[in-house]
Amino acid sequence: DGYIARLNEIYHRNLGVSGVTELAGRARFADARRVVVGDRTYTADHIIVATGGRPHVPPIPGAELGVTSDGFFELEELPGHTAIVGAGYIATEFAGVLNALGGEVTMILRKEILLRRFDATLRETVMDEMQRAGISIVTHSQPASVLRDNDGRIALRCADGRLVGGFDTLIWAIGRKPNSAELGLESAGVHTDSGGFILTDPYQNTNVPGIYAVGDVTGRIALTPVAIAAGRRLADRLFGGHSDAHLDYENVASVVFSHPPLGTVGLTEAEACERYGHDQVNVYQHRFTSMYYAVTRRRSPTVVKLVTVGANERVVGCHIVGESADEIIQGFAVAVKMGASKADLDNTVAIHPTVAEELVTLR
Ligand code: NAP
Repeated sequence: DGYIARLNEIYHRNLGVSGVTELAGRARFADARRVVVGDRTYTADHIIVATGGRPHVPPIPGAELGVTSDGFFELEELPGHTAIVGAGYIATEFAGVLNALGGEVTMILRKEILLRRFDATLRETVMDEMQRAGISIVTHSQPASVLRDNDGRIALRCADGRLVGGFDTLIWAIGRKPNSAELGLESAGVHTDSGGFILTDPYQNTNVPGIYAVGDVTGRIALTPVAIAAGRRLADRLFGGHSDAHLDYENVASVVFSHPPLGTVGLTEAEACERYGHDQVNVYQHRFTSMYYAVTRRRSPTVVKLVTVGANERVVGCHIVGESADEIIQGFAVAVKMGASKADLDNTVAIHPTVAEELVTLR
């Protein structure tokens, strides 16, 4: 909390130094040119909406017995036996943190796998390792209601009637909703999709000239650095004289800080096959135990994987799970973004002994 408060302070100070006027309050469009904050109305040539999102809580009876990621960060002590509903970044990371701190954790998935959108090799490795570390994973369970049992503990009634219970704490980690409903977007004529996400073109323009949107409220790759990058390019375009500046949403690297962590950039094997056809895709993969574990009793696997396409084997996907994956992926993301081929990676002399060297020595 102290760290974040310090960051907030630095941002406020830098805004002030840059000559930005900050107005605290809820903003609402009166029309396409005017925004109301409190009892004052403001006009501007350019209006950028960057209101982000908030955790989604399912509309089921008893849902209020659970907390979201916000509540997680308010915990002052280990929360006993914790049920985490969800299968994405937050569910996976929180389960790893609580387990590593010695907590008992049960993950409740509505489908059969974690991190469904990630490459199968990554998600299977992470799921196996989490279970090996003692995390229980209950699959095919869609909560329909939440209740307290006679001992005061939390239980979830699933859609198929099963009761999963014995929890002290329940965390919802089932995605986020855009903060767009109370902005008066309809008064400005700004279009959203059925989920409330503001529709934007590749230049972050909404359908209304002079109104733009960036970040989670647009529903495109909901990651902080993506929002910052899109905002920076928009500023360059509007005020910096770079008329074509816009963010390329392809090949954005991302990390899940799971235990072990995973890093990924580009297409999964399945996506590459779908986009280019099976016969165009080659996959190189190696599973090993990193030297980090040479002196430890408990060992965790590392898997590196390259997905290439075409005769020149352009690398369209790079995936790592295991020790240091979170730090390694950024450098390989540069190579993938630049269109590197498998031969380019092979021409790079390995740094021995590291995990990263396995990606330039794959056979
Ligand atoms: P998420 O990554 O979108 O995952 C939510 C998961 O919950 C979905 O994958 C879905 O899995 C499951 N789900 C959705 N609705 C459900 C329902 N009604 N009942 C049960 N399960 C349901 O969302 P998140 O984990 O809440 O994270 C929120 C955002 O924070 C994400 O956009 C993420 O990018 C960001 N974030 C990023 C990082 C990072 O970069 N390391 C860390 C934390 C958060 P199935 O469809 O497979 O069931």
